[in-house]
Parts: sequence; C-alpha cells; structure tokens
Amino acid sequence: MFKLPDLGYAFDALEPHIDAKTMEIHYTKHHQTYVDKLNDAIKKMGAEDKAGNNDMGYLIGLLSDLDSVPEDVRAAVRNNGGGHANHSFFWDVMSPDGGGEPKGELAEEIDKTFGSFDDFKAKFKEAAVARFGSGWAWLCFQDKKLHICSTPNQDSTIMEDKNHAPLLGLDVWEHAYYLKYQNKRPDYIDAWWNVVKWGQVEKYLGMLAN
Ligand code: MN
Repeated sequence: MFKLPDLGYAFDALEPHIDAKTMEIHYTKHHQTYVDKLNDAIKKMGAEDKAGNNDMGYLIGLLSDLDSVPEDVRAAVRNNGGGHANHSFFWDVMSPDGGGEPKGELAEEIDKTFGSFDDFKAKFKEAAVARFGSGWAWLCFQDKKLHICSTPNQDSTIMEDKNHAPLLGLDVWEHAYYLKYQNKRPDYIDAWWNVVKWGQVEKYLGMLAN
C-alpha cells in the first residue's frame, strides 16, 4: 500500500523560508490524508498487490492513464493519487542546503529556453501566481525541451501525456504557505527559491535528456 516517503530533513530544516508548523501539518496531515484516501481507492479496486510497498511506478501508470481506472474511483485516484505523487516529488526538490543556481546541462537549457536564470524565475513565478485557486507550477521536460506550466488541484503533469515529465514543482495551495505568508503567495514563491535542490532537478533532467 501507499505510504508517506521519508522527508529526509526535519520540519524546521527549511526555516525561515518555509516554517516548521507548515511543514509538519503539510506532511503529517495533508499528504497523509491523500495517502489514506488513495489507499481506500486502491482497496476498492482490489489492487493492493499492485500498489505493493509504495510502488510509485504503479501510481504513475494509473495517473498517466486515468481512463483505465474504474469510474467509481477515478476521481479519488486522480485527486489523492495526484496528491501523493505531487507531494512526494515536492519534498525531494527541496533541501536545507538548497538555493543558488542550477549548473551544467540544466543551466544551459534554462539559458537557451528562457534567456537567463532570472528570466526563468520570473516566468515560473508568473505561472505560480496566475494559478487561480489551488494547484501547482512546474518546470517540465517534454519533446526534449524545457517549458513552464501549471496544473489545477492535484492534477499531475503526466495526466495529459505520460512524456510530460516534471523536473521541478511548486505547491501553491494555501495549505503550503498560509500560516507564514497569508495571502502573499508571491512572497512565498520568492522565498522558496532559497530551498530549491537544484542537484535533484539536474538529476531528473539527466535521466530524461540522455
Ligand atoms: Mn500541498
């Protein structure tokens, strides 16, 4: 069955950019609830064996082919499976040692696609601010090219195309920032760059590009 992944750092490790209380509630309550509700749906499907021990490959398969999921649990898998996949990904692209600028191939691709790292950050922020209500902003790699996009709710980038893979994602649900930033989503986005684990993003690009 599905379960919370190891966070890899303490709840207060991303302070002051992301506060400990937000991290604790986000991980132990919000993410846990997506996991629990996803497991309820998996039981209804009789797919406990396929889910295995948090088999993310199986989950990605479901999310990239939602039409194959029985209708009575499709919305539950979309919302809670998407929530589990997105949050598991999100924790991994942040680190207390994060921030700075990307290197190597990723830096080259960002310059080539967006002009400069600052231009990239401005466009990413624009997408994150413009997402009305709850959702996510993404840097993706598709057809051998970088692009920025956003998804509503807990939709995953791979729902529209399994080759539409995320390299970096930002949760812009209010539950991700409201305690510290209240209505100031742009300030949360500015602070978040200080915890982005570019080494992980570079690794994802390396896996997809080569
Ligand atoms: Mn969240």
